[in-house]
Amino acid sequence: AAHAGVRTISVLGATGSIGDSTMDLLRAAPEKYRVESLTGNANVAGLAKLAKEFSAKFVAVADPARLGELRAALAGTEIACGAGESAVIEAASRPADWVMAAISGAAGLKPALAAVDRGATVALANKECLVCAGDFFMSRAVAAGARILPADSEHNALFQALASGNRHELTRVIITASGGPFRTWAAADIEQATLAQALKHPNWSMGQKITIDSASMMNKGLEVIEASYLFALSPDEIDVLVHPQSIVHGLVEFADHSVVAQLGAPDMRIPIAHCLGWPDRIAGRAARLDLAKIGQLTFEAPDFVRFPGLRLAYDALRTGNGATTVYNAANEMAVAAFIAQKIRFGAIARLVEDTLNGWVRAGNLAPLSSADDAIAVDHNARKMAATLLPQIAAKAS
Ligand code: NAD
Ligand code: MG
Repeated sequence: AAHAGVRTISVLGATGSIGDSTMDLLRAAPEKYRVESLTGNANVAGLAKLAKEFSAKFVAVADPARLGELRAALAGTEIACGAGESAVIEAASRPADWVMAAISGAAGLKPALAAVDRGATVALANKECLVCAGDFFMSRAVAAGARILPADSEHNALFQALASGNRHELTRVIITASGGPFRTWAAADIEQATLAQALKHPNWSMGQKITIDSASMMNKGLEVIEASYLFALSPDEIDVLVHPQSIVHGLVEFADHSVVAQLGAPDMRIPIAHCLGWPDRIAGRAARLDLAKIGQLTFEAPDFVRFPGLRLAYDALRTGNGATTVYNAANEMAVAAFIAQKIRFGAIARLVEDTLNGWVRAGNLAPLSSADDAIAVDHNARKMAATLLPQIAAKAS
């Protein structure tokens, strides 16, 4: 409920890239928003600085060892604080009308669910939590009367385009992909790509994990699964289109074969502003689109051979019964191993594929009916990925 037009806001993952874009939008119209809680993982100084700037009521740092540091940084203020997972969940549970869920990885699941369960409007950037908890997440939102607004640029584009027709008139959705830094590379070169090369995204400036996922196109795989759960679509209704300029973000095709698309500069402040203003529109902070200056928009089909992560996402979605949870968990393990330089780039998809195969062979597929189910599958899939990791690391391709 808004008080005199003031919206209360909590930002989970306030110190990250999405958090930063969200705070930029809040900063532009301070009279419209009041910040309830902010969370971060380890960057206490950055978190405390934001908390003071926005006079937050509560701040939580996920690392339990940093409570003393956070208390010291907030000394002399009225701001309450906590540390550890329970404090992050408390931050999400506090009364805020609108919550940005921008923690990276499956670690964001419980906090996002805490916001969902009290019926908040949740701007969802954290795609991994949706991929991990499957349609269970969406049914919890329906049960609690929570509104999920897609903050991921492609899904936000689909959400906007879907308003042009009725759900039963939809024939297909298309999400675009920049193709990442290795779009034109040969498979053998992708195999050997370094961390520095994987972190050089052509269009978007984002956190480390999603940037690596963009290079492997695992990000697009996660987004296909995300689209399926968000909009209740079958894998056959979701297409991926490579579009190197990242101007067209998502398209919806209707029964009459009209295709409605959303366009904008590759700046996350555009989809976040849409979520923040929804159901109204607020003033944008990103550059306006100048198509004459851009000149050309190009499109190409995705390559499922050089980017096996994309193929595996469709496979996992068709398999269901926790397979997308396994896909996400194995990918998080693989990305961490790649960052730690324990495996080469090409091994990321191999670890995901071997973990999925091992999981199916072990007879572990089963429907997920609770958050605890999803968390248990996530945990056990990570364990399986960890046991497969040494083999994968040793195997030269
Ligand atoms: P980031 O790494 O920049 O920030 C992640 C945030 O989560 C930080 O505030 C960090 O402190 C916090 N965090 C990390 N691990 C945590 C843990 N274990 N417990 C609690 N907090 C933790 O990441 P980002 O790029 O801002 O991405 C955040 C999410 O949004 C991801 O799920 C990503 O896929 C999604 N997303 C990002 C973009 C983008 O442009 N950056 C676009 C679309 C979707
Ligand atoms: Mg995206």
